Amino acid sequence: MRFALIILAGLILGVVAALAWPGQELWLGLPGDAFVAALKALIMPIVFCSVAGAMAKLGSVPQLMRWLRRALLYFASTMVLAVGLGLFLVNTMQPGVSSQAKPAALAKAPPIEQLSTGEFLRAQVGKLLMDPVKAWASGNVLGVLVFALLFGLMLGRSEGLSPWVDLLSSAEAALARLIDMLIYFTPVGVFSLAYKQVASSGIEVILKLGPYVLCVALGLLIHGLIVLPLAVRLFGGPGPKRFLSAAFKPVMVAFSSASSAATLPVTLEAAEKDLGIDPAVSRTVAPLGATINMDGTALYEAVAALFIAQVYGIDLSMGQQVIVAFTACLAAIGAAGIPSAGLVTMALVLSAVGLPLEGVGLILAVDRFLDMLRTSVNVLGDLGGCTVVAAGDKD
Ligand code: ASP
Repeated sequence: MRFALIILAGLILGVVAALAWPGQELWLGLPGDAFVAALKALIMPIVFCSVAGAMAKLGSVPQLMRWLRRALLYFASTMVLAVGLGLFLVNTMQPGVSSQAKPAALAKAPPIEQLSTGEFLRAQVGKLLMDPVKAWASGNVLGVLVFALLFGLMLGRSEGLSPWVDLLSSAEAALARLIDMLIYFTPVGVFSLAYKQVASSGIEVILKLGPYVLCVALGLLIHGLIVLPLAVRLFGGPGPKRFLSAAFKPVMVAFSSASSAATLPVTLEAAEKDLGIDPAVSRTVAPLGATINMDGTALYEAVAALFIAQVYGIDLSMGQQVIVAFTACLAAIGAAGIPSAGLVTMALVLSAVGLPLEGVGLILAVDRFLDMLRTSVNVLGDLGGCTVVAAGDKD
């Protein structure tokens, strides 16, 4: 816990330094960039070696299917809860009705590609079944994960397997050491990332879009601090206190990096060292979660779509809101675990109910701050997935 407090101090110091002494992003942002780059460099080797290694030892398809079934059930149910909560809050608080963020902001709308639901699904299948080398090079975690799962399982059923298992185990051990080394730099990395975020965006824009930011932030806080810990408990995982205190470190890194993929090494460390989860489970579930389980993003997409509709004075019927809920889940599943991915997949939600794509311009200014918050909830959900699957294994 002491180390987690040092990380928190780094975060607070970063925010204070940015407010008191802005304009030093080049130097003070450098350690943060290096920290995220180092985390990212570890993602693909970890996913490939650990997942293939774990599957080779497991060698059992029914066991893997049990894990996946449990993880997907948990991911889907918490995501539906997140979207429901978001829709409830945005309908109750009506942040777009009182908003002054109208035409001026629209001029700044980024060019966004319009996608139909069918095209979107096709792109997702393409990501799932990609040439592993191409997937590795393009940072497609899901593609590498699927290949590693299948490759490892087949390895487990082949003759003369031990040299491969030994090789993968040694690689895993070396990677675990690298993660341990990197974790020591977390306080400095978090300080630097927090400095850079606050110094480059400022807090005035956040205040200007106050009601909208409040609505998303409230939803994320309720989901992250109440709904998820209770869901984890309900699925047989640890109690809320133990779960939240173990999640502290990865959440700090998620908040400051706005990337669940980059946070993956820290999520794995928390799952294995702080919650004592079997690495075979955490290394299968956490990478899957980092790519498809995004409760925070789903909640954000639903609130943002309704906010845009409210600003434009468009009334969405109950049926249209159900479409928003459905496409928000799809868009969240399809969003990569990188900064601003959710903003890009928003196009799917907006076009599904005929809302203007330029509406994204309204929320652009506060996206980075909300990205930091929603990524924290996404990572909390991934860690929850590991505990839930591990608990099912014990049963
Ligand atoms: N940044 C988020 C994540 O990495 C994705 C998003 O933009 O919502 O989890």
